[in-house]
Amino acid sequence: MISALLKRFESGLRASAKIVDCRLVHVPYRQTAGKVVQAVLGRHGDGAKIARLRAYVAEQTSPAYDAARLNLRDTGLRLGRSIFRPLLSADVARLGGFVPRVAANASRRELEKWRGQNLEAGFESVAKQGQVSVNFEAAVYRPYYLVRALLDRGDETLLFDGGFGTIAGYLTGAERDAFARGKDKDPLGTAGPSFRRVAVVPSRCPNCGMDPKLPEDAVVSICANCHAGIAASPEGLILVNYDREEGATPDRSTALLPFWRFPFRIGLPGMPAITTLESYAAAIFPQGLPKGFSPQGASVYVPAWRLLTTEAGDEAFSDLAQAVHGQSWNWTPDRVGLDGRPRFVPVSLPEEEARDLAWAALFALHTKASAARLNTLLLKRMLFDAKLSFGKGSVALISFKEQGKVYARPEVSVARLLIDGGPPLAAQRVTVQGAAAAFLAAQKRPSMADRVKTSRFSGEE
Ligand SMILES: [Zn+2]
Repeated sequence: MISALLKRFESGLRASAKIVDCRLVHVPYRQTAGKVVQAVLGRHGDGAKIARLRAYVAEQTSPAYDAARLNLRDTGLRLGRSIFRPLLSADVARLGGFVPRVAANASRRELEKWRGQNLEAGFESVAKQGQVSVNFEAAVYRPYYLVRALLDRGDETLLFDGGFGTIAGYLTGAERDAFARGKDKDPLGTAGPSFRRVAVVPSRCPNCGMDPKLPEDAVVSICANCHAGIAASPEGLILVNYDREEGATPDRSTALLPFWRFPFRIGLPGMPAITTLESYAAAIFPQGLPKGFSPQGASVYVPAWRLLTTEAGDEAFSDLAQAVHGQSWNWTPDRVGLDGRPRFVPVSLPEEEARDLAWAALFALHTKASAARLNTLLLKRMLFDAKLSFGKGSVALISFKEQGKVYARPEVSVARLLIDGGPPLAAQRVTVQGAAAAFLAAQKRPSMADRVKTSRFSGEE
């Protein structure tokens, strides 16, 4: 019966409806994507205190139009699965009107709100520090259609969301007029400093002249022909120096994993600045170091590929932090011999993003024994509230041996999946919204202790 009624309404409407005007407008948004990184000292149940590092994929879309003037009915809009295309000057005339852009940083502010959120159920936090690391930020335009039509209720203006293909809302006459005023003739900002410029340069290794076959997401990679370090720059490919672990002789079963290496400085009130891990450890534990905890050297190391935001990846980040900072290193700038042919994993995490994570590496290097002796006051004073600065980064390659599904060293191993990536790894990445929803659901579920109590009374499993 309902479908018969609908059908009658539809045919009546189709016979009388008339589109008076249909206009395409492009509306600017600010899109920010990155990750929320949380360092939490805490415990599972009655367990010992542990240092746990977790990271979550985070993205936020916020209006970059004058929201006081226009209402796009877009609260809670997220563009996560959208495909962005660069806006070309040739397209501007074809794409209808552009709503003027205003300065907007709400998307960044919104991401910051996740820093202190509880996102892991069953893990009781003693002290927590969160930071946002941004890896993509841009103005993006979304299409809307303004349709003025004569419908069953008379003359109406509808706002269609061109991305989702749905009616976003019905506009008043005043709202419709507001859209018509003040079009942006130059949405690309061709005169502005951020106008995109494309440079076409030959793909030739500056050292040997061969095409070095750069992997798609590489920031720094190694020329397969001569083993020189190569990076792309606006002027073309340039040589980049790198160090590698001395003493290891790479062969075909070797994988060289890249790390960003930063000199660091920890400023504490009333104390000389700390620039080595030995003095950092001694400042935290003046009565003597916990057993097996002896970080060494004057550098902080951050894995130079996108390791964080899966549970396995976050744990590997901590395992690597403990292993890499727990020994002293001898480096050599010599290239790997051409007969070695190891696998060079390219640097795919830019230096600036790695620098954003360096504080987290200082936290993650705490072993079980040292985390058990940390407390809120100590951690806040020595790390969370300390004045941290990190110097210029350099690339250091560490030798691992391929052993089935892992790359291994005596002290640590990394699952190959966490380096090779692809869809199986992408499926394991956790978003902040997903983690928050799971946390909320777990709060509502009766705990194991409650369930045991209930089952005793009801006699059920
Ligand atoms: Zn080369």
